Amino acid sequence: MRNILSIHTLLILLFFSCQPQGEKQTLVHTLEEYNQAVNLAKPGSTIVLANGVWKNAELLFEGKGMAEAPITLTVEEKGKVTLEGQSYLQIAGEYLHVDGLVFKNGYTPTNEVISFRKNNKELAYNSRLSECVIDNYSNPERHEQDSWVALYGKNNRVDHNHFEGKGNRGVTLIVRLNTNESIENNHIIEANYFGPRQNLGSNGGETLRVGTSHYSMEKSNTLVQGNYFDRCDGEHEIISNKCDQTTYKNNVFFESIGTLTMRHGDETLVEGNVFLGNRKRNTGGIRVINGQQTVRNNYGYGLTGYRFRGALVVMNGVPNSPLNRYFQVEDAIIENNVFVDSDHVQLCAGSDVERSATPINSTFKNNTFYLEKPSKLVTIYDDISGIAFENNLTNHPINKTLTSGFEVENMSLTKDKNGLLMPMTGEKVIAPALADEIPTKENTGAAWYSKADKRIAFESGKTTTVAAGVNTLFDAIKNSQPGDILELKDSKRYELTKLPLIQHPLTIQASEGKTPLILWEKKAAFDIVNGGELRLKGLNFDGENAPDGSGNAVIRTSKYSMNKNYSLRIENCAFDNLDVNHSFDVIRIYKNTFADEIHISNSTFNNITGHVMALDKETDDVGIYNAEFVTLHNNIFTNIGGAVLSLHRGGKDESTFGPFLDMDHCTFENIGFDSRNKYKAAINLYGVQDIQMKNSIFKKTKKIQMHLVVGEPIVKVDHLQLDQKNLIKVSGDQKYSIGKLFTSPRVTPKGTDGKVIGRINPTKK
Ligand code: CA
Repeated sequence: MRNILSIHTLLILLFFSCQPQGEKQTLVHTLEEYNQAVNLAKPGSTIVLANGVWKNAELLFEGKGMAEAPITLTVEEKGKVTLEGQSYLQIAGEYLHVDGLVFKNGYTPTNEVISFRKNNKELAYNSRLSECVIDNYSNPERHEQDSWVALYGKNNRVDHNHFEGKGNRGVTLIVRLNTNESIENNHIIEANYFGPRQNLGSNGGETLRVGTSHYSMEKSNTLVQGNYFDRCDGEHEIISNKCDQTTYKNNVFFESIGTLTMRHGDETLVEGNVFLGNRKRNTGGIRVINGQQTVRNNYGYGLTGYRFRGALVVMNGVPNSPLNRYFQVEDAIIENNVFVDSDHVQLCAGSDVERSATPINSTFKNNTFYLEKPSKLVTIYDDISGIAFENNLTNHPINKTLTSGFEVENMSLTKDKNGLLMPMTGEKVIAPALADEIPTKENTGAAWYSKADKRIAFESGKTTTVAAGVNTLFDAIKNSQPGDILELKDSKRYELTKLPLIQHPLTIQASEGKTPLILWEKKAAFDIVNGGELRLKGLNFDGENAPDGSGNAVIRTSKYSMNKNYSLRIENCAFDNLDVNHSFDVIRIYKNTFADEIHISNSTFNNITGHVMALDKETDDVGIYNAEFVTLHNNIFTNIGGAVLSLHRGGKDESTFGPFLDMDHCTFENIGFDSRNKYKAAINLYGVQDIQMKNSIFKKTKKIQMHLVVGEPIVKVDHLQLDQKNLIKVSGDQKYSIGKLFTSPRVTPKGTDGKVIGRINPTKK
């Protein structure tokens, strides 16, 4: 017994003698205890937040640690401490280490959730943020701007954090160089997991930005390496570099739309990065602007983006560019990069009257492009004589004007140790020098925090059968769970006296062979609110019970800001008699909402006093818009007082992708003649970036209007049958071409399956 005791005592003594002097752990349960612990902290101190929810916690973590004895702020158990409501954190001082904090269920009332400064003067140095999480901590006001992490000071490290689901405007992680204390900062940003970020539908959706145009002549010396960018789709700059001497190394960009953009600043090194587009739309690689940029040993697979979001983009500059415009590319070195099944290399991109300075003194060598088939891989927008092409390789002929510097050789593909497809010529594998172990979802971020997808797919839940009756559908919607299917089993009347809120992804469909009829007494049948998404299949809607007032609709978005994008799909549905009063729309959306897609197929619309949809509520003309992909396939529109579609993206901003319109096999008859139709058009497109309209018939309709501004929009109008000349009215300063138009019947309005388009003869009552 005596011996055991003495061993125990010895162990305790040993334990304490191993602790650095002054080391102390303080478990805190309240903000008062926290503040006291911060005040008393000495080098080596650790402050531990007790398990639980910390609501509206305004944490200032201030102090002076030492290199060998930092002051640490951590949590009792990782994943069991969350900062919610209006919480935020400021770090100021030296050798401070923050570890394990989770921010969710709220948003910061300030400009930055985690800020490496207390104020303009008191910044953080030699400090570290690791294993922290910011998850959907988004301001409910979509276009209210904030950042999640802002780096100031010098020598700070941000590693193994998890940032996911930023829904409002503002860069996710930003490195500021706004004072002398923050330039040449030597920050390291590594092994972080940048989780899915939805399309913002506006500039300001960058996932990472280093610098600003105003300080773009300063050196950052920031190193960004080994991070994983998972579906970072905020805007076309996944990363926006805006200062000198930044390094981006060994990062992985998984199915992220846009590019790593060297927007401002010189001497950037972009090396060993992996861009996995997997043929997702608008996925890009690297965009080169400014002087002395090096792009080497990068790899891309399945990148589909064009123009500013190509696999590899070299921009034209502006002669004597102001700070906020485009500096000429000079002394660029682009070498040893490998792209597999990627569609677009863009040279002198953005060439126009203003951007007339072509790249100079640059080299493009030893790059390899494996193509599935011959293609015009390289688009040349201006004079490329300032780029020396040497020893580049493809396996199919590419742009014929590139006569030297590209060899064509047979290639096959092989998988490397990371599972990436690399080209081979004979037995020789052509692979860029990548990191031994590339970043993955698993080896980045905080290991203890789930990276499971949060967005729930349509029809991933259970199916519930709903009988006809009064508010049976309302009750079923109220009791539904995300991803559920409500199946209407009767070819009878489903009446709504209450307005159901669609709060999560939900499918409402007819049972096989049934034609349920939906009637409603409120100003709309459904409201899609934040988080809601709706898919309708095989339903008939009749406006006869709607209130006798103006401004009814079938489907509305929230009137309030939605910081979550939504999807709306209408298939095999019929909409009739929306005419109890004027301005009765099918779909009515509001400002500060954004649809990833609005898809309408095989549906009919008849006797409607308002618009089918007016997606044009962002009227500030600053590049913000309301819907990305609008699809109209196999629909019949008859007797519509307003427009079938108004789609608007105003302003000169070039930071986004859409809107995209894809219209095929639709017929329009008697459209747009109501005196309240302010567009005086059947279809009104303003600033739409990709217009595809084909195989459709217009009979007795108002005009098809297209205002083409900014972004070199794609216009493919073909095989339209119009009953009058000059029905298509085009304005704006961008190029376009119109394909075949017919004035006598030439278009057969049949679907691709050969059946007559539209859902004919819906059963009523
Ligand atoms: Ca941007």
